[in-house]
Amino acid sequence: MKEITNFADITKQMLLHYGLNPKKKFGQNFLINEDILDNIVDISGVSSEDDVIEIGPGIGALTAKLAKRAHKVLAVEIDHELISVLSQTLANYTNISILESDILKVDFDEVIKRFGLNIDHIKIVANLPYYITTPILLFLLKQKEVHFESITVMVQKEVAERMTSAPGNKDYGSLTLLIQYYMNAELVLKVDKTYFMPQPKVDSAVVNLTKKSNFVRFNNERSLFKVIRECFNHRRKNLLNNLVNLTGKKNKTVLLQIFDEMNIDKNIRAEKLTLKQFMILTDNLMKVNLLS
Ligand code: SAM
Repeated sequence: MKEITNFADITKQMLLHYGLNPKKKFGQNFLINEDILDNIVDISGVSSEDDVIEIGPGIGALTAKLAKRAHKVLAVEIDHELISVLSQTLANYTNISILESDILKVDFDEVIKRFGLNIDHIKIVANLPYYITTPILLFLLKQKEVHFESITVMVQKEVAERMTSAPGNKDYGSLTLLIQYYMNAELVLKVDKTYFMPQPKVDSAVVNLTKKSNFVRFNNERSLFKVIRECFNHRRKNLLNNLVNLTGKKNKTVLLQIFDEMNIDKNIRAEKLTLKQFMILTDNLMKVNLLS
């Protein structure tokens, strides 16, 4: 417990030393528990073969720990004020590069080449800024050029539950399915809000996403994502009514036939359907020209 207090003190002193105030607009809640930082590195499974892209290094606490295990670390930070701090706090590490950028604007193909990262061994690790967790996850998952080996992220506990939920649960939704489509997901560690500075209102959790060894692109991803999005648009409505919304009232009979063929109840809600069933449903809708 003493060490943990020391680490909180170190963070406070560093902020004071560099005259920094954590910025709410950038979701700056620094992790001040060294055990949790070590846990994140363990969960990520980073080894000397891996290049890591860290999103939002802050003052570099997690970055330094990652650099001790990884081949290279590229830390992408949006806050200009933190860039010069990081170049001082991480000065002793020859395998860390710092890039000042909004992660959502990063062209991974270009950055991977520029920093000499190994495209087949890239792991993403981050204590994510909560205000843009979902856009960042979607941006990472939908990259066409690079399929990250793993994505280990600290997110709000509620988001972690949505990311890793199973069919039939209240948290199960379009985010769950999108993640499941690309990667295997596991909620590994719950983290109390008292381990952050400043303290957020909610607890957090670490989710580990790993590359699917058998990943095959669905023949029409765009339509699959559209069906999933629409079917969870009005959670109170059942699946049939959401699909009527999507395809038009006149198609209700055709939709009921598809339900019949798929052996699914006409009153079923979207949260009961597995990813596989959503794929079959999309294929069936396309066959009868209800989707383009
Ligand atoms: N890694 C540090 C830690 O664990 O203590 C800081 C984590 S803090 C929750 C989120 C970090 O992401 C901050 O450093 C913040 O400035 C940075 N950040 C926020 N939005 C960003 C964006 N769009 N692109 C890159 N970094 C961002």
